[in-house]
Formats: sequence, C-alpha cells, structure tokens
Amino acid sequence: MNAEQRLAALRRTLAADGLPAMLVTGVSNMRYLTGFQEVFDDGINAACLVTAEHARFYTDARYAEAARAAAEGTPWTVRGESRQMYVEICRELQSEGVTELGLESSVPYGRFKFISEQFVGSVRVLDGTVERLRQVKEAAEVERIAEAARITDEAFEHILGFIRAGRTEREVALELEFWMRRNGSEGVAFAPIVASGPNSSRPHATVTDRRIEPGDFVTLDFGACVDGYRADMTRTVAVGRVDGEKREVYEAVLEANRAGIDAVRGGVLAKEVHEVARAVLERAGLADRFTHGLGHGVGLDIHELPTLNAESRDQLRTGSVVTVEPGVYLEGAFGVRIEDSVVVEEAGCRVLTRSPKGLIELE
Ligand code: ZN
Ligand code: ZN
Repeated sequence: MNAEQRLAALRRTLAADGLPAMLVTGVSNMRYLTGFQEVFDDGINAACLVTAEHARFYTDARYAEAARAAAEGTPWTVRGESRQMYVEICRELQSEGVTELGLESSVPYGRFKFISEQFVGSVRVLDGTVERLRQVKEAAEVERIAEAARITDEAFEHILGFIRAGRTEREVALELEFWMRRNGSEGVAFAPIVASGPNSSRPHATVTDRRIEPGDFVTLDFGACVDGYRADMTRTVAVGRVDGEKREVYEAVLEANRAGIDAVRGGVLAKEVHEVARAVLERAGLADRFTHGLGHGVGLDIHELPTLNAESRDQLRTGSVVTVEPGVYLEGAFGVRIEDSVVVEEAGCRVLTRSPKGLIELE
C-alpha cells in the first residue's frame, strides 16, 4: 500500500470541496489511509486528522508503540498518549487557525455532539469521502481479495464432502469457519450463512440447529479474509434429488448470475447491470421474488461502494471489486442465491470466485 498516494488523493478531494480539515474515524477508512492493522479495536481509541499540512494519527498508550512502528516511512505522525483525544484535536486545530472540520457521517451522535461543542468553528458532515477513494482497488488489493476468493473456493470444495442429511446448519457453518481459518483466512469475511430447506427463503438467515433433510436446498454464503480484504461467495446445493420447480428456479437464478456477470464492465451504470439480471428472472416469472439488489462492492468491508441495485446512481469503475448475487426466495418453501465476486475491467470483468455453479445434488 502507498500511504502517500492515498493521502494525496484524500487531500485533493478535500481541496476540491474547499474543506481545510477532515477527521477520519471509520475503522476501515483509518486502516486504508494508514495501513495500521493492529491498533483498532472498536474504533473509539483512534482517529486520523488530515489537513493540507498535517496527517496525524491519534491513539492511546496501548497502541502507541505498534502505531509508531507502522508509521515509519509514511507521512503519518503518531500521537500516542491521547487521553482526551477529541479535546486535543480541537485544541490543535484552533491553534493552527482551522475553522472548518469535516466529520464522517458514521460518527456516533454523542461523539459528534461532543466534537461540535469542543471545536471552535463549523463542522461539516461528510458521506463516503474515503469510501469513494476505496472503491477503485490497487493491484495489491485485488491480489488479496483474489487470495481470499481462492481460500473460499477451496472451503466450498471441502464442505461439499461434509454436508449431508442429518448435519445441522451450525455444524456446517462451524466447519466452514474452522476450515478457512486453518487454511490461511484471518477470521472470516463475515459470519457464514448456512440456510437449509425453508430457512433458505430468508436471504440473510441466521444459522440454526435445524438438521438438513433429503430434498433440501442449502444456501452457503461465506468468504475468507486475507490482510483485511474479504471475498464473498454464495452457492446453493441440493441434498439428495430435487424436483422440477426447484430445478427451474435454480436454472433461472444461474442464468441471471451469468447475465449479470456478462454485463459488468468499466463505465456501465450499476443499475443497468442489476436490470440485466432482473430481466432474466422477469422472463422466468420470478422477478417479484428477487427481493434485494444484485450486488455490492467488497474490499476491507464486506459491503462497500459501489451499490448495484435499481436505485443506484453509481457507475462501475475499472478496478472495483463487486459481487453479482441474484436470488429468488419462495417464502416458507425454499430459496436459491448464486453469488460471485468479480473485478471490473475495461471490457468486462474477471471472476475471482471460481467454484462450480451447475446444480450439485449431494448424496
Ligand atoms: Zn455473500
Ligand atoms: Zn454479497
């Protein structure tokens, strides 16, 4: 990562907005700007202040040593003894004559109020300033997501041998997690979703102790994480043989996934990609059962910019990593979702998650 380049890009944005200072407090945004990895617990004990002249990283004594080591050779100055971090920041800004400060919209209200009261000047709420910089990935970032996708694919291959009638969703989710962590994933990209039978009609089902039954669809939505970068993939597999309707829905969702992937390229509007996939489901009479957006950006966070849905105004940019995840949900019966993570390229995209997508009927 190049802290200097990222900081320069943020400064250009602030200058274009006529803003002399910004306080970055979102954990992933701080990590993106500084490259510091170990020092964020819940994001309360760190903040990054960026002005035209200064780039300061504030944290407390617990993290000071690690932060100083990480800051070597970067433009960041570490203030590692902050006890009253926000008081100190506001005081320094005042002594430097800064009278306007940008805060991220994610700042909790109590903290926002405190800073507004401490700061002598006006406060501006910023939405997505650093997030927009993050949406175009550097080659090294794409490599990490690709590595996370590779582990995800291997985990899928492994889990196919583990899933069978009688296993519970929780057993499958734990096996997925253990396997990924044993094989190079730091934690998991997000708590895996394992939704079987009727539970699969809930797009973001929570894992239960339900035992998988013959004839079930099992939806597995999961991903590995490498150096903070996440992969996101969904596969739906059948346990035993599945009947006509389930097959038809599966094939329609698969066609929508493929059509969506074919529509991804640099410069296209995200909502157009969503529409291409939705149109496939429309033709199958299933569009009203496709109840969410087609996808989202993925990187340091599992859900980031751009957003692929009907309302999106985002344009896909070369170098973004996005998901394509059409799903059809028949309440109380079953659901099917098929999701891949892809890198947007000028003339198309490169699919990072490579697990098989044809209907698998496990013995
Ligand atoms: Zn997913
Ligand atoms: Zn997703």
